[in-house]
Amino acid sequence: MPHQVDKIDIAASMILESKRIVVFTGAGISTESGISDFRSPGGIWSRFDPGEFTFQKFLSSQQSREKYWEFSTSTWPEMAVAKRNRGHYAIAVLYEMGKIDCVITQNIDGLHQKSGVPEERVIELHGTARWVNCLECGRRYPREEIQGRVASGEKVPHCDSCGGAMKPATISFGQPMPEKETREAERRSAGCDLFLVAGSSLVVYPAAQMPLTAKDSGAKLIIINLEPTPHDRYADLVIYEKTGEALPQIVARVKDKREK
Ligand code: NAD
Repeated sequence: MPHQVDKIDIAASMILESKRIVVFTGAGISTESGISDFRSPGGIWSRFDPGEFTFQKFLSSQQSREKYWEFSTSTWPEMAVAKRNRGHYAIAVLYEMGKIDCVITQNIDGLHQKSGVPEERVIELHGTARWVNCLECGRRYPREEIQGRVASGEKVPHCDSCGGAMKPATISFGQPMPEKETREAERRSAGCDLFLVAGSSLVVYPAAQMPLTAKDSGAKLIIINLEPTPHDRYADLVIYEKTGEALPQIVARVKDKREK
């Protein structure tokens, strides 16, 4: 088992040898920006019951929709003020270096785009919290505007155009995955030569299938996560470390090696 310092070196060499890297991120990359993840101690699912916030529940009654908006409103403030961290920035630097084909993210916080990865190179598999959708006519509203309406007493905001119930543009459990994004993520996972996971428990499907798709298509796999994941045994390299620690070190080593 290589020592942690050697692992940074090995990761840097793997990155240098690769031409089309897909980076795959989860809630873990944003905890250092102050956004709670779902499954860590103190994470969102230790405070809320996920079974209460499925898409089917949302559709089932006014009471469930009110509860959903209460939950979503309570988690929004930390996301609204969050800034990119060292992990996001390191990925943006790798993008600038021409190493990254795209970032596939399960995150809904928009921090990859804020850190400088172009919008069209970020595939948001689980939607975004930055927008709110009308479930009837599909009209989109900026989240800030709708949170303002919630703050002034609307328990479940309704669409100005058609009166339909509105929901943040995130993909809830039980809600169909966005077709275009899912297809594109599968295609790019199958076409990369290195798949780099950063901060994901790799238990939410179909997202967690992407590293396996990449591996089956011949790519190398690196996983950086604080704790073990079910896919560790398929990985060529696993680093148990904060993404905000490991990624900047890896990128610095890539630069060193490139200059030699
Ligand atoms: P998860 O909550 O299931 O797991 C996060 C993983 O990251 C855990 O294994 C944890 O040990 C690890 N981790 C925590 N902090 C870390 C750090 N600093 N460095 C490295 N690893 C760290 O998250 P997931 O796998 O992304 O689960 C997917 C679901 O969570 C998605 O549906 C996503 O929409 C949602 N989610 C997103 C956000 C966000 O947008 N920031 C926040 C919470 C939940």
